[in-house]
This record gives sequence, structure tokens and C-alpha cells, in this order.
Amino acid sequence: MTQRALIVGLGISGMSAAIALKRQGWTPVIIERAPERRRGGYFIGLRDEGKDAAEALGVLDIMEKRTPENIRFWDVRKDGSRRRIADLTRETDAPIAVLRGDIEEALWRGVEGRVEVRFGTVPQTIVTGNTQAQVTLRSDGGQETTEAYDLVIGADGVRSTVRRLVFGPDEAFFHSLGTMLCAFPLRRPVRGFKDGDGLMLADTRRTLTVFPLEGRPSTALFSYRTKNPTAASKKDPLTTLRQIFVDLDIDGIVSRVLEDLAATDDFLFDSVQMVKMPRWSKGRVLLLGDSAWCLTLYSGMGASVGMIGGLALGDSLKSCNGDVNAALQAFEAKLRPFVRKHQRFVVLRSQLFVPSTRLSLWGRRVLWQILLSSRKYLFPNKT
Ligand SMILES: Cc1cc2nc3c(=O)[nH]c(=O)nc-3n(C[C@H](O)[C@H](O)[C@H](O)COP(=O)(O)OP(=O)(O)OC[C@H]3O[C@@H](n4cnc5c(N)ncnc54)[C@H](O)[C@@H]3O)c2cc1C
Repeated sequence: MTQRALIVGLGISGMSAAIALKRQGWTPVIIERAPERRRGGYFIGLRDEGKDAAEALGVLDIMEKRTPENIRFWDVRKDGSRRRIADLTRETDAPIAVLRGDIEEALWRGVEGRVEVRFGTVPQTIVTGNTQAQVTLRSDGGQETTEAYDLVIGADGVRSTVRRLVFGPDEAFFHSLGTMLCAFPLRRPVRGFKDGDGLMLADTRRTLTVFPLEGRPSTALFSYRTKNPTAASKKDPLTTLRQIFVDLDIDGIVSRVLEDLAATDDFLFDSVQMVKMPRWSKGRVLLLGDSAWCLTLYSGMGASVGMIGGLALGDSLKSCNGDVNAALQAFEAKLRPFVRKHQRFVVLRSQLFVPSTRLSLWGRRVLWQILLSSRKYLFPNKT
């Protein structure tokens, strides 16, 4: 009889795991809290590791790629002047620009029709033993069922229900970066900038970045530092951002971008939390992706490692000849050094997005300028 896995979450990690398990002869079932598949989302720079993983999952070629041909990035200063800086999609290892929804769309094509997907369904209780886990599921209509699975995978994001039900409260595993983010798609170009232009408006403890995309309006990312992220995430994003950026509204850029926030429901406003866990599995329950190790947006690796995680699980099951308990240990041994390496630099990388002092603001500017100069020197035709 084939082994059955319940995957909680139809995001990048959940779908990657489903494709990898299916290849190993398993029968995955995915449950998703939302009533339907989400689309769109925010800018993601997919690095080499992510491109390789997408290729191994068979989805790189079908993934929409949105790096503008004529991309240029500008550092907009408080006095209204702007300077050309290196663009985020042409760092040394050249990530490609995509929307989160582009990765999900590509993975969906590997899942649709091959894997059972139940929308509007969440786990209520999970009881795990050494060979199976019993899960009570609740659907939007209020029906409850209890089902047995050989493996339950919590791929339900940074605020994971599976983690809370099986491993403990969020606070035990959250490491706050003391920052907030608000990401959303813009409806129209930023006035005074051309197609393909991105911009950063940075001051100490607060930044606005606009990421240009080919064939789509740009996406905006506000990020700011706060002493109390928990309280901040309960506030209204629009009012809060208006207050925080009131004296940084250069040429009306911030006000216009915030008008687009007011007009959309497709936004993410949350505190930034890294997740650190001593173990990613307990009995027959495994956490995968942001639920297990959230590397945060500052790492630029979350989407990549979500796909890498799915593949690593498939490889571990294969190399352990179906011995699930051994495979969970092998998975951990394989992935932990990689995750640890990236977690180590998250706090430092957060300075690139939201500098905490005048010194780091200055250091960040110098770094972007150096990157631009080195590109001019290395790739004279591309700048
Ligand atoms: C603004 C921003 C920019 C980013 N930029 C980059 C980047 O440039 N490069 C990069 O590699 N990464 C980036 N990331 C990180 C990347 O987006 C995430 O690491 C990745 O999407 C995590 O995927 P996931 O599947 O683990 O979790 P999620 O995307 O959170 O998916 C979880 C899924 O589970 C569902 N779910 C939640 N709870 C339940 C429940 N109780 N029952 C059933 N379903 C549930 C959710 O609806 C969702 O579909 C960025 C993140 C943000 C926020």
C-alpha cells in the first residue's frame, strides 16, 4: 500500500513537497486554509539555489520571469536628488525577478490533477505516534473528520498552526528582528520614473523600495524598525505608514504609493520573525519552509529553501528506502547546515533593507554604489 502524507499549506514549500513525495510513490493530500489558490503577491528575487531547485522540480522553464530588460535602480535622497545604484536583480549571482504567485503558479502545474487538494480546510488537532499521526480536519462548512497519515507536513508558513499544535507556542521559536513589513502591488507607475525603474527611499529605521517587474505593475515594500512589533502588527497599516513616513514624502512618492495600498486587499502587513527550532520533526509530524526555519525576506532565500526542502525530503525518503523515521533524521542532517548558514546573516542583511543607524545608512549607500561600479567594470554593456 502506498504511504499517505497530509501537507498543510498550498504555498511554495507545500507544493514542492507534494511533487517530491509523489515522485517517491507516496500519496500526498494538501489542505489549504484559503477558499481558493492565491495569486499575485510580492516581488521575489530567485537566486541560483532556487533556480536549480525549480529546475529539479521540473518547473523552472514554465515559470514566468519578470526581470525588466531595461531595469535601473535609483537611490532617492531626502533633498529630492537621485542616484543610480546597483539593481537587486543583478547582484553577482543574478537572481531573477518573479512574483511569489509566479513560483506558486509553476508549482501548481506539477500538482493540479495529480494531488488531492482540499481548500477551506484546516487542522484542528494532531496526535502523533511513531508510525502514524491522527489529524482532525475542519472544513469551512463546519464538518470535522479524523484521518490517519504516515506523515503530516506543516508547510503552513511563519505563523504555523501545525507548529503550535504539535511543538508549542510561537513565542518559543520566534526571534524578532524588531522590524515590520508591508508589501503590495502598485496600480500605476511611480510619477517621474520610467518603466523598468526601481527605487529605494531610505532613511534610518525606515525604507520604501519599489521593485519593477516586466509585464506587471511594480510592487512596493515598506519596512521600518519598531520597539514593539507585536503591538505594531495590530495597528492599521495605512495610518501607521502615513505617520512613520510623513517627513519622507519626497516628491509625493510615499503618498501616491500609499493611495495604492488603500485601494488593494492584496497586501501583507506583519512583523518580521525568524523561526529557530531545535528539531523540525516530532513523531510523524515534520515542519517545512517558513514554519520550520523562516529566514525572513532579508535573507532573499526563503522561496529557494522552501523548494530545496521539498526536494530534500524526497531524497531522504529515497535514500532511506521508505524508513520514514530514518528519513526525517537524514532530512534534518542534510538541510540544517544550509539553513543555519543563512540564518546567521539575517540580522546583518536586515541593515541593507532597514538601516538602524546613520552609519549603516551611509554604509548601505556606499555598498550599492560599489556594486554598481563593479558592474560597470565587469559588464560594460549592461549598465
Ligand atoms: C515581502 C517579502 C519578500 C520576500 N522576498 C523574497 C525573496 O526575494 N527571495 C526569496 O527567496 N524569498 C523571499 N521571501 C520569502 C518567501 O516568500 C517565503 O519564504 C516563502 O513564500 C515561504 O513559503 P511557505 O510555503 O513556506 O509558506 P507560505 O508562503 O506562508 O505558505 C503557507 C500556506 O499555508 C496556508 N496556511 C496557513 N495556515 C494554514 C492552516 N492552518 N491550514 C491550512 N493552510 C494554512 C497559507 O494560506 C499558505 O497558502 C519574501 C517574503 C516576503 C514577506
